[in-house]
Amino acid sequence: MAVLEQWRGVKAIPDMEYFISGHRTCQGCESVLIMRYIAKAAGPRTIVTGTTGCMYVANTSYYSTPWTVPWMHSQLGAAGSSAMGTAAGLKALMRKGKIKDEPINVIAFCGDGGGADMGLSAISAALTHEDYNLLVILYDNESYANTDIQLSGSTPWGAVTTFSPAGTKHRIMHRRWKKNTPGLLAAGHAGQSKFIGTACASHGLDFMNKVRKGLSAGGPTFLHTLDPCPKGWHYDPEMSHEIGNLAVECGIWPLYEVVEGKLSFTGPTRNILTGRAKRKPVREYLAKQGRFAHFTDEDYAYFQSKVDEMWEHWMIPGVVAFEMAEADKGLIH
Ligand code: SF4
Ligand code: MG
Repeated sequence: MAVLEQWRGVKAIPDMEYFISGHRTCQGCESVLIMRYIAKAAGPRTIVTGTTGCMYVANTSYYSTPWTVPWMHSQLGAAGSSAMGTAAGLKALMRKGKIKDEPINVIAFCGDGGGADMGLSAISAALTHEDYNLLVILYDNESYANTDIQLSGSTPWGAVTTFSPAGTKHRIMHRRWKKNTPGLLAAGHAGQSKFIGTACASHGLDFMNKVRKGLSAGGPTFLHTLDPCPKGWHYDPEMSHEIGNLAVECGIWPLYEVVEGKLSFTGPTRNILTGRAKRKPVREYLAKQGRFAHFTDEDYAYFQSKVDEMWEHWMIPGVVAFEMAEADKGLIH
């Protein structure tokens, strides 16, 4: 297991890049920035596997790749299993003396389709195998983006996708609330995974430090990032960072980490909870994106009420999605 110290500020981040030119993602793509940050945070002694998705298709066009560390494509639902197989293989080779015994980081990434939907079972399985050091990173652009923006379990309520166009008869075609993937993995793998967290591409240092913490935790770990996607979310590419910031500042995407069973909030989420900042109205975030352009006042109000519920009624704001029944509230002190 590597021991990677935390970077105390942006000046501590090295200049060296391990994810360079040669990719073909859209202008303003935040997921590709996440890839660059992953490589920078982990450094050269790293093996990366990536499932099918934008970050496979657009990053490995025929005979070119921006990855300068070993990289392998894996099947769409296989982030967890490819990470576990790689970590187990390295361990066996080192034990047999076939390769030098040294810390090598194993990272597998997947999109929301590959991680929150199809590959959830494999990620969950990987998080139960405490003997293997690995980090699974789910980059969430809230759709199956590389096949032209179909909705996934991570797509927010009411968003337009190619599977949920706003119509005159049915304005809101997508009526399911976004799945709480990091919360369910954190609650379900307590005592097995020493690090589970959330991040956003707009908060690069926070993200890179979480990558380094996950890789240094020992055992299987998981990090979920929210990545604005100009193509699927319909906004000007220059607004990507602003949109990511707003997702956090409106309380839609809380930043947190659970380290060895202890939860801490980070960045603007911490400021909101400590009263140093106020949660912004969700309308500020939603109204900047074409995928919500059909929203009426009633739709904004519904979205706001669901986010308020996350903050005011969940057992842990934005993390654990239930509260005690009224009759049982006095049972726990
Ligand atoms: Fe990035 Fe979205 Fe374009 Fe995919 S569709 S490359 S996630 S901006
Ligand atoms: Mg996606």
